[in-house]
Amino acid sequence: MNEIITEILKLKKEKDAVILAHNYQLPEIQDIADFVGDSLELSKLTANVKASLIIFCGVRFMAETAKILSPKKDVLLPALTAGCPLADMIDTNSLALLKEKHPNASTVCYVNSSVEIKAMSDVCCTSANALKIVESIDNNEVLFVPDKGLGRYVAEKTNKKVILYEGYCPTHFRITKEDVLKAKELHPEAIIIVHPECPKEVRDISDFVFGTGGMLKFARESKYNKFLIGTEEGMIYRLKKEIPNKEFYLINSKLYCPNMKKTNLQLLYESLSEFKYSIEIPDDILERAQQPLLKMFEIESKL
Ligand code: SF4
Repeated sequence: MNEIITEILKLKKEKDAVILAHNYQLPEIQDIADFVGDSLELSKLTANVKASLIIFCGVRFMAETAKILSPKKDVLLPALTAGCPLADMIDTNSLALLKEKHPNASTVCYVNSSVEIKAMSDVCCTSANALKIVESIDNNEVLFVPDKGLGRYVAEKTNKKVILYEGYCPTHFRITKEDVLKAKELHPEAIIIVHPECPKEVRDISDFVFGTGGMLKFARESKYNKFLIGTEEGMIYRLKKEIPNKEFYLINSKLYCPNMKKTNLQLLYESLSEFKYSIEIPDDILERAQQPLLKMFEIESKL
């Protein structure tokens, strides 16, 4: 194990690479990464990173986002088949039909979507800024794609008309109301924090709703010491590592995203040594997909 880590670090230096890892990655990938974070943190980073090669340990839409924001750089996704079932729930035909049905609506697309869907959207958002983005756009009618979990959460908090698409994250939808009640019985003094991708009945009985970056910040800064966490299990490793003096428990033991766990040290090594798998996006799609991401950053900078 140590040998492969040494080789990865050597190759990283030789190739002027930076390793980015999402909060849901395996512990050994989080440990070797230069930066670990949520989609917003990592997408901001990719836009400013100095290294010429970006290795994105996450799923395909994240590596695509890095390429869109840093088109001149090479971006590699170590696990070729690491996709996102939520992102795959919408295709360009379904979105075209939805837009046709609601011609006056602006399309807000969660960053958990393919480059083609981003290219058809007006503005992107992440779980951390979705509400602010919807509130900031100059239109009272919004098509929110593809995640109905996050979309519903936003719809509850805004006066705008939010039209939802039927996509959902299979991992976060594995949390039930009963799971939360059972976990609370086991840890009655714990504060419950769940991800906005969770079903409404789960959010409704939780104490706080945050994306992964928000969870980390809240757990670090709040006066509470014990937390029940409703998101992918990789986040528990990050929380325990960053905040070792507090306690974190997963709401149930099924919160495992198989795609997020496809990247391992061997694939990371092969990615660096064999330059795979390079993210390639046709120029015209990349340019169109870049606009809604830049619009998101522009809105963010004014908030
Ligand atoms: Fe997609 Fe959900 Fe897995 Fe994230 S946790 S990659 S949204 S399926």
